[in-house]
Amino acid sequence: MDIPKELRDSGLKATLPRVRILQLFQDGQHKHMSADEVYLLLHREPSDIGLATVYRVLMQLVDARILVRNQFESPVAVFELNQGGLHDHLVCTSCGQLEEFCDDALEHRQEEVARKLGFALREHSLSLYGTCVRCASEAGPSPKIRRS
Ligand SMILES: [Zn+2]
Ligand SMILES: [Zn+2]
Repeated sequence: MDIPKELRDSGLKATLPRVRILQLFQDGQHKHMSADEVYLLLHREPSDIGLATVYRVLMQLVDARILVRNQFESPVAVFELNQGGLHDHLVCTSCGQLEEFCDDALEHRQEEVARKLGFALREHSLSLYGTCVRCASEAGPSPKIRRS
């Protein structure tokens, strides 16, 4: 992704905070991040981007459909790059671990359901909640929040 171009195509100026935040998502190390996590990563290097700016930029990027915002079951929203809604999520309600999956049959069924009810689908978000392998095992819960 050419970040400055992506921003311009969405009608946003390529300001430093926008570019830096998108770089974090693009480097792929952390696919799902809350605003706090974005802030902490930005500040691994000297940076004067404040938390309020991080929040504002994240919401602008969601409005521009470059990022997607997911609430899952926690009060904290998690952001990720918009990949056209091509994956769904499994969420561990015990440790917060997130897994992504893609199931063509499921995608197809969702489209069918929408069509039957006369809806033109714009986007979708499907989250399944449960207990991850670790939390279900004798080993007990995994360390809190380890997102992929
Ligand atoms: Zn778990
Ligand atoms: Zn995801």
